[in-house]
Amino acid sequence: MGDLKLIKQETNDTLAKLGLSFAKKQKRFLTEKTESACVVYKIGNHSRLLEYTDEFWQMLGYVSADEFRMAGGEDFLALVHPSDRAKFLRSIRCRKNDGTMYRSEYRLMAKNGTPVEVLESGRIEETDNGESAAWSMIISTMPMKRMRERFLFREFFDPITGLFNRRAFGISARDMIDAHPDIVFEIMIVDISRFKVVNEMFGEKTGNQILKRIAKCLRDENESLTVYGRLYADHFIVCFPSSKVRRRAYMDALDKLTAVPNEDYRLDIRYGVYRVIDPSLSIGMMCDRAELALKRAKNGTVQAFAEYDEGMHKKVVGEQYIVNNMEKALRNKDFQIYVQPKYSLTTETVVGGEALVRWKNEEKGMISPGEFIPVFEQNGFVFKLDYYVWEETCKFLRNCLDHGIVPHPISVNISRMDFYNENIVPVIVNLVKKYHIPPQLLELELTESAYMEDPKKIIRMSSELQRRGFKILMDDFGSGYSSLNMLKDMSVDILKLDLKFLDSKDHTERGNNILSSIVHMAGWLHMSVIAEGVENREQVEFLRTTGCDCVQGFLYSRPVPLEEYGRMAEPDLSEGTIA
Ligand code: C2E
Ligand code: MG
Ligand code: MG
Repeated sequence: MGDLKLIKQETNDTLAKLGLSFAKKQKRFLTEKTESACVVYKIGNHSRLLEYTDEFWQMLGYVSADEFRMAGGEDFLALVHPSDRAKFLRSIRCRKNDGTMYRSEYRLMAKNGTPVEVLESGRIEETDNGESAAWSMIISTMPMKRMRERFLFREFFDPITGLFNRRAFGISARDMIDAHPDIVFEIMIVDISRFKVVNEMFGEKTGNQILKRIAKCLRDENESLTVYGRLYADHFIVCFPSSKVRRRAYMDALDKLTAVPNEDYRLDIRYGVYRVIDPSLSIGMMCDRAELALKRAKNGTVQAFAEYDEGMHKKVVGEQYIVNNMEKALRNKDFQIYVQPKYSLTTETVVGGEALVRWKNEEKGMISPGEFIPVFEQNGFVFKLDYYVWEETCKFLRNCLDHGIVPHPISVNISRMDFYNENIVPVIVNLVKKYHIPPQLLELELTESAYMEDPKKIIRMSSELQRRGFKILMDDFGSGYSSLNMLKDMSVDILKLDLKFLDSKDHTERGNNILSSIVHMAGWLHMSVIAEGVENREQVEFLRTTGCDCVQGFLYSRPVPLEEYGRMAEPDLSEGTIA
């Protein structure tokens, strides 16, 4: 019954409103789950029971019809609870013998003397003997009431914490916000990072204990004009008048709970807030906005808290646009291949290129890969797009070969997500076979992030590709956490060092030292180095002193359309024949 206590505590005025919405379902309970019986009893001086179904004596706690009869149960009035007999007799007097239905509520008495609340409804009709009798259906309303409460609980409360669930939170928060148009509220979502891990490491029981503690904390911090609940899993939600002080109070209180009971593990609690600037939004949309902010807080490592801003909204809308239009864009060839030439520092001539994709979009102009590749990595489309880029690159190389030119190699990017495709090696091998291209002409750029996700798999796949004659380039070397570790385990042909990662103005000397050390180390490990992101002469002069010979950057050339690259890199290819 603890649950019911909670209901009373937490709902009061909202329950009446909530109740309305399950009236329909409640009707179903009436027919399916309630105890009901049919009885016929005489009306007049006596109220002898003439007929009754077994459910009637069962409802009153008798074990058999015989027991019921022996106990003198066949006098209906004697079965009515003494304190309700007068009320019952009054109701009988009001019943009309004209075929209309009557309804009375009173209490019967069970075998053990306890009252049984019932609802009687029926009609007065004559029996074969010409006596007036009540033909009734008797429904015990007790289970119905119990059920109603339980049902209410399940519909609107979270069974583990007893807090409002998403639905009840939505209704109550809506009421509160609407009732106070002069107050700016805020919606805060509280989330435990990696809660799954907690469940896995310490068991569900501990997990539930943590959820209950958080619920208790939200109850304890409760002030007027506050609605809170559990949205799902480890996501809790609070709506209160926007105030930094209140926000801080919640965070401080919750931060005290970060120790897992009896374990040496600290929880990481994150917060996403939406200030309800636009109260006309649905509560669902407000929650979505708080969730967006939460995502930002989860991505950052230091800040546990983030507030929704319009930029987040724009980002989501932009991402949705990308998802809605990607297939069409691929069909229409709106994805175009650009190539950024790579230069030798010694000869200052083109020695190769990197294929980089661009989205030429009718409405938005040119969309850069930084915007759409992360979206495609999430929804899996990146594989289709990459394959398209690889194939277009192969077609270009084929065209050169067909004209008797051995082209400079072009590198293509392989997304970390591409490695989730177990067939990635045969796919790439078959592609160069299809166009009869020597594999060393199609170089493959992998990123450290792919290695970090699943080192064993990447090592296996990349060495297989090397065995098949492909060159492996490590893109953005040094940008991740495990660059050196990776070099220990994995065979790489070329390191691509992005100068962006090193050129912090304040640390030029340190940066330079690191860079020249990497070039030396690469030499010892029989790898070459390409410096990318080269933007000025100073960088070039420095690179010359390190022994790094290959560069790629805006100083030499921006990425250019494939045709233009053809003219720059393979001038012997006659006009109009380039793919
Ligand atoms: P990335 O592979 O490291 O490519 C180099 C990026 O640096 C390119 O950006 C290029 O335009 C830019 N860049 C080149 N020189 C300079 C310079 O001097 N200064 C500066 N600031 N930037 C320079 P882009 O084309 O916007 O591509 C960004 C990233 O998107 C790429 O980084 C790559 O990770 C990804 N990407 C591009 N095309 C593809 C593709 O076809 N497939 C996959 N999976 N990823 C791609
Ligand atoms: Mg690259
Ligand atoms: Mg790069």
